[in-house]
Amino acid sequence: IVDIQGLNKWYGALHVLNDIDLAVASGACVVVCGPSGSGKSTLIRCINGLGSYQTGTLRLAGTTLGLNASETAAARRQTGMVFQSFNLFPHLTVLSNCTLALRRVAGQSRAEAEDIAMAHLEKVRIPEKAKSYPGQLSGGQQQRVAIARALCLNPRLMLFDEPTSALDPEMIKEVLDVMVALARDGMTMICVTHEMGFAREVADQVVFMDGGSIVDHAPVRDFFGPSGHPRSRLFLNTVL
Ligand code: ATP
Ligand code: MG
Repeated sequence: IVDIQGLNKWYGALHVLNDIDLAVASGACVVVCGPSGSGKSTLIRCINGLGSYQTGTLRLAGTTLGLNASETAAARRQTGMVFQSFNLFPHLTVLSNCTLALRRVAGQSRAEAEDIAMAHLEKVRIPEKAKSYPGQLSGGQQQRVAIARALCLNPRLMLFDEPTSALDPEMIKEVLDVMVALARDGMTMICVTHEMGFAREVADQVVFMDGGSIVDHAPVRDFFGPSGHPRSRLFLNTVL
């Protein structure tokens, strides 16, 4: 569903993505890790069509992003994105956060949108908070709402950028549990995370980035195995 070849991006003189090749098959769960500033968020933003790039090709669900504005917008709608900082609308209830795009973008009626939203709020195990406002929820609950909101548009690909790194330890698990269930359900996912327990549990592949390059890309077993890449092993020692 994602096919990236020879992708390069610069911010001025700074080479932030260096010849990235990455293919993600439908149904796969790929974990992206690496030190701060290595280009993980930049890569995710490119895949989501939020960021531009200078050379190479990035195909998402059969569309080459950046060639044609309306095709790029249509491809973007196939992805759901979850950020570190939740990004819920504070003045809307949980339910309205979830139904907003369904009503505005997908043109659904209020009743249809609310049915879909409630189904996803149940999936992330928080239906009882539908009428609450984001400020009344814990960080873990807000992040689960953000996941439900992204799922409402029925994406073919979910992108996560450090979804648990702003959370207290006891809330990390409730969010990871939702992500694990999603992966087991067959959702295609690219997750920037340093939660290596999550990676071991559900990832198919692990990508390790450093300095804008993919330094290591391996099936999860090899990544954590004795023959893993020395640079990734060094990094694993710092996060495990
Ligand atoms: P972190 O783990 O801290 O989130 P990251 O791997 O996600 O890091 P990116 O946010 O992708 O890293 O940033 C990669 C590089 O690009 C960094 O050196 C960063 O300073 C630079 N960068 C990111 N956004 C911009 C921007 N809008 N303008 C200029 N430089 C940028
Ligand atoms: Mg980042």
